[in-house]
Amino acid sequence: MFRTRALSSLQLLRGALFPCARPGLVHAQCPCARPGLVHALGGPARRYRVEQRSYWQALRRRLLGPPEPPYRRPCLVGTPVLRAVPADQVRGPEVQRLVHALVAALRRADAVGLSAPQLGVALRVLVLEVPERVLEAENARVREARDMVAVPLRVIVNPRIRVVDPRPVLLPEACHSLPGIAACVARHRAVEVTGLDEQGQPLRWTVSGWTARILQHEVDHLDGRLFIDLMDSRTFQNLRWQEALERASW
Ligand SMILES: [Zn+2]
Repeated sequence: MFRTRALSSLQLLRGALFPCARPGLVHAQCPCARPGLVHALGGPARRYRVEQRSYWQALRRRLLGPPEPPYRRPCLVGTPVLRAVPADQVRGPEVQRLVHALVAALRRADAVGLSAPQLGVALRVLVLEVPERVLEAENARVREARDMVAVPLRVIVNPRIRVVDPRPVLLPEACHSLPGIAACVARHRAVEVTGLDEQGQPLRWTVSGWTARILQHEVDHLDGRLFIDLMDSRTFQNLRWQEALERASW
């Protein structure tokens, strides 16, 4: 059932001219925002958005407004918040709400790590979890090569990383904010993280192998960095290249 919202004629007019505008919205948080983009009537941006939404999607957006962070799913590369560098010292009730949203989105996306900026929230919070079923889905050779182990859910607020073993390990990575692509990234073999847990208690955790990779990847998100910034560009690949090739030959 839709949550209804009274709209003044001025808001309706504004909505007609600026499809993604909403009074009071910080534009950098809008998932369809593009820096410097003018949402002019009849301009290419407007045509693009109209084509992207069905009638019901457009109606829902008109009634409910644009999605507000924390989003239910990771936002995509290009969303400005992914390049933000959040401030430190996160405390208070908003963290509990954010942690709940992060854990829900992590499990919904079947991911092993997720950071607050990926849900549109510029705060230094990450979650990490490697369930047994993720390990079971990989063959033993891959598990061994990646040094993968199961990890119960960890919530880390204001993480700080210290390198314990700087030997570089080059392995493929992917990210829910860049769906369909992967590339090899060199990561430190082992790191120690310090910060706070979800209760605000200090934590110190030393990890190696695949867990250290996930942790470094998520902390990078908190510094506005994506794995494509660090990748070996010659290993960059579209994960659907075979599918596209087969479609092209039909
Ligand atoms: Zn990521």
